[in-house]
Parts: sequence; structure tokens; C-alpha cells
Amino acid sequence: MAIQFPCMHCSTILRIDEKHIGKQARCPQCQTLNLVSENMQFSTGESEQSETGSSPPNPYSSKFSPAPATLVRNLQPHRGGLILGLGIASIVCNVCFIPGILAWIFGKQDMRQIDQGIMDPEGRSMTQVGMIMGMVITLLWVVPLAIWIFLSILLAFAGGF
Ligand SMILES: [Zn+2]
Repeated sequence: MAIQFPCMHCSTILRIDEKHIGKQARCPQCQTLNLVSENMQFSTGESEQSETGSSPPNPYSSKFSPAPATLVRNLQPHRGGLILGLGIASIVCNVCFIPGILAWIFGKQDMRQIDQGIMDPEGRSMTQVGMIMGMVITLLWVVPLAIWIFLSILLAFAGGF
């Protein structure tokens, strides 16, 4: 059994199977997320007429598919705030590049999940900014550190001879 309701933003009629009640549906017109709920059920005069028994087939019956709205199921909350915070921490705390590495790793994972549609895309810009900050700070620390380690090893060998 399908239910139908108007998009809260642009009033396009969305048709959703009632088993999706309690989840969110994205409006195909304006991309607004609408919570699917029984209370929002909305019937047109057309479908009421068909209930009275006279013949026109009800286009909103359960046989009618597919629903125009794409369902968004169980989106993971984004960690944009955390990643941005780690990125800022790596800049403010100028001795430790650990938060920078974490921001880089978490940011990279989350960007992939956002691209795959698993994670809430609202955090995209925060995640990206935090990831870039973390990446820059990490490289600023790791590259000279690696060079320094390399040179010390080289000097230790050179001193041995
Ligand atoms: Zn809409």
C-alpha cells in the first residue's frame, strides 16, 4: 500500500510505500528530505472517487510503481565538526602533528563515504577543510622529519668510517 504526500518545500506529490514510514525520502524536484509519516498522508479528490467503487483504476494503488522519490536510508551522521576540530588543533598545537594525521585519515574515509551516499553530505565542506588542514600540517611535519632522520642515519654511517 502506497501513501502520498506533498513535498514540504515545493509541494510535488511524493508516493512512497507505507513500509518506509518513519524514514526520509528525497524529493526528486528540489532534493529536500521529507520525513515519511502517516500523518502527512494526503489524498487527492481523484483517489477518493476511485474508492467509491466506480471503475477508473487507482493509479496510486500498490501495483503502481516505482515511487518517484529516492529513499535515503539510515544515513550515517557526518563527522565534519570532529575532523575540522582535529585540523584546527593540528595548526594551533604546533608541536603535535598527531591530530593532523587523524584529520587526514578520518577525512579521507568520510569523504569516500559521502561520495558513496552512505554519510550525510551536509558535512562535506567541513570534512574537506579539516582533511586539507590535517594533510598540510602532516606533510609540513613529516617531510622535514623524514629528511632529518635520513640525514642523521647518513651522518651516522659517514661518521663510522
Ligand atoms: Zn520538493
